Amino acid sequence: MKNSISSLYVHIPFCNKICSYCDFCKIYYDKKYIDKYLDTLEFELKNKYKSEILNTIYIGGGTPSTLSINELEKLFIILSKCKLNKNYEYTIEVNADSLSYEKLDLFKKYKINRISIGIESINKDNLLFMNRELDKEKLIKLINYSNKIGISNINADLIYALICENMDILKKDLEFICSLNIKHISTYSLEINKNTIIGNMNLKPIDEDIDYDMYKYICDYLKNNGFIHYEISNFCKFGYESCHNLVYWNNENYYGIGLGASSYINNKRIDNTRSLNKYFNLEFVKNVEILDKNSIIMYEIMLNLRKCCGISLDKFYKKYNKQLYDMYDYSDLVNRNLLIEEKGNLYIPEDKLYIQNNIILMFLNAIKE
Ligand code: SF4
Repeated sequence: MKNSISSLYVHIPFCNKICSYCDFCKIYYDKKYIDKYLDTLEFELKNKYKSEILNTIYIGGGTPSTLSINELEKLFIILSKCKLNKNYEYTIEVNADSLSYEKLDLFKKYKINRISIGIESINKDNLLFMNRELDKEKLIKLINYSNKIGISNINADLIYALICENMDILKKDLEFICSLNIKHISTYSLEINKNTIIGNMNLKPIDEDIDYDMYKYICDYLKNNGFIHYEISNFCKFGYESCHNLVYWNNENYYGIGLGASSYINNKRIDNTRSLNKYFNLEFVKNVEILDKNSIIMYEIMLNLRKCCGISLDKFYKKYNKQLYDMYDYSDLVNRNLLIEEKGNLYIPEDKLYIQNNIILMFLNAIKE
C-alpha cells in the first residue's frame, strides 16, 4: 500500500541539562558537534524527502532552542527547502531557559507558527526531582512576546504523578498553566524507565489510585477552563489540535530525520540510530520493521483509539476496503460501555480512557479472521 507523505519530524538531540526521567534520544549540547550534525541532517533530508508538499513540520528533541541563533538559522535554511502547504503547521520545541526574544523573531522569519514549551511543573521540589529549572517571570514574558509577534499557537507540557507530588501541587501547576495565554496542553504521568537517572534509583511509581485521581482531576480542570480533551493526554482550545501528532494517531505516513528519529513510510517503520558516531558516518538506519496487513490494521486501531473521537468507520473502510465489524466482534465491548459507536465513529468513552490499554487489548483479541 503506497501512501502520500505530508509530514516531517526533525530531531535535534541537544540539551543543556539532562532531566532525571528522560528516556528520549538526547546528548549534552556541545558546540563542536552542531555544524556537523546540521550538515548530516541536510544530507539525510536530501536523500529522503521527495519534494512532497508538507502539511506539518515538527522540530523536536532534545531541546532545539539550545542551539544558538546562528545554528538555528542554519537549521531553518536547510528546512526551507521543504515545500509547505498553505495551511501548514510548523512547530519547534523549546525550553524557557534557552529561549529568547531574538530566537522567537527568528522563528517568525522562518515561518514557524507553533511552539511547544517544556514547563512540566512550577513546584520547586518537583523541579529539583526532575533536574529542571524554570524562571516563571521569563516564561510569561516569552509567551506574551510570542503571542505579540503572531506565534500564538503555543503548547505547554506538564508532568504529573511525580514521587513527591500531591493534589495541591498539581492544582497549582494547573492554575499556572491555565493562566498562560496558550492553546494546547500535553500532560504526562511520570514513567520510571530503565537507563534514566531515576530508573537507577529503585524508586516506586506513585500509587495507581492517586495517579488515576490526578488524571481525572486534570481532565475536569482543563475542561472547566475551556480546553477540549481530544486525545488521552492532550487538550486544546477549539481548533488547535496538534496537526502533526494527529498524523501519528491517524496512522499516516511521515518522514523522520535526525538522531533516533522514526519514520513511517509505505508500511515500514524505520528507526534511526541513537549513536552520534554512526549518524555522522551516515549509517542512519538502526531498524526497519516491515508491517503485514494485520499489523498495519492493529496499529490503526491502537493509535486511533487514543483519540477521543476514536476510529472513523467510513475512513477505515476506505483505507482497507473492509468493514471493521467484519474483522472484529467488538459488540461485547459496546454492550459493556467500554466502547461507544455513534455517528460513524467508534470510540472509548472519556471516563474509560484511563484503562484504554486494557480495552484495546480486548478489542484486538476479538478478531474474527
Ligand atoms: S529537556 Fe527534554 S530531551 Fe532534554 S533531557 Fe529534559 S526531557 Fe530529555
